[in-house]
Amino acid sequence: RLAPVVASLAGRYLGADYGAEAGGAPGGPITAADIPALSSSSFPLCMQAMLSGLTADHHLKHKGRLQLGLFLKGAGLPLEEAMRFWRTHFGPKCGGDDFDKRYAYSIRFNYGREGRRADYTPYSCVKIITTPVDAGDCAGCPYKTLAPAALAAALSKAHVPPAAAAAAAAKAAAGHFQLACAAAWEGAHPGHELESAGVSHPNQYYDESRRARAADAEGAAAAAGGMGVVEGGKGGGVKVEAAK
Ligand code: SF4
Repeated sequence: RLAPVVASLAGRYLGADYGAEAGGAPGGPITAADIPALSSSSFPLCMQAMLSGLTADHHLKHKGRLQLGLFLKGAGLPLEEAMRFWRTHFGPKCGGDDFDKRYAYSIRFNYGREGRRADYTPYSCVKIITTPVDAGDCAGCPYKTLAPAALAAALSKAHVPPAAAAAAAAKAAAGHFQLACAAAWEGAHPGHELESAGVSHPNQYYDESRRARAADAEGAAAAAGGMGVVEGGKGGGVKVEAAK
């Protein structure tokens, strides 16, 4: 009788829910303007893919809006900045009153300001991986949905070094999508190891990346003389000024 219970537990996510709006993630609240730089420094491949699709098409289907929108909420994007972000991206195809009528309610809903005012939490990897994705939709886990050549191109665009990209592609081909993601994380963060045993949540990937980038920034400041000033931490870029 226990076998089905154990089997269902294996596919269930039991970790942190990353539900706190604006401020729970390392580095504190973020703005819409921070998102492009943060994407290339610290977003997992799934969120990078949805952001690229959104930027190219000025549209994202319902599942993608939920997955990316709730991820950004968990990463510290407040409601008013989320509104700015979606309005800017959708603007060329659906701006002004049309945007308000079609999308503003669902964005406020995700933040618990409409409907039953629940604190909706970002999707875990298991939920993203097991949610069916329509053809041509950029939602979902790229380690599962992309063909090998497209996955290799996405990893290269995400600046994952070739050896780590090959390891990630091999794990993805074997059906180990979260291990593939962990291999890519470790390749993209040289000198660091994941604090957790693998990647189980896109916001875990993001939080651990922000901590690793902050540690790199501190190391760069220390290498520059121990009295430097570090700027630009949000975008992952580091500027070190020597103390006079
Ligand atoms: Fe995103 Fe998780 Fe897939 Fe990584 S394993 S790309 S975090 S869904």
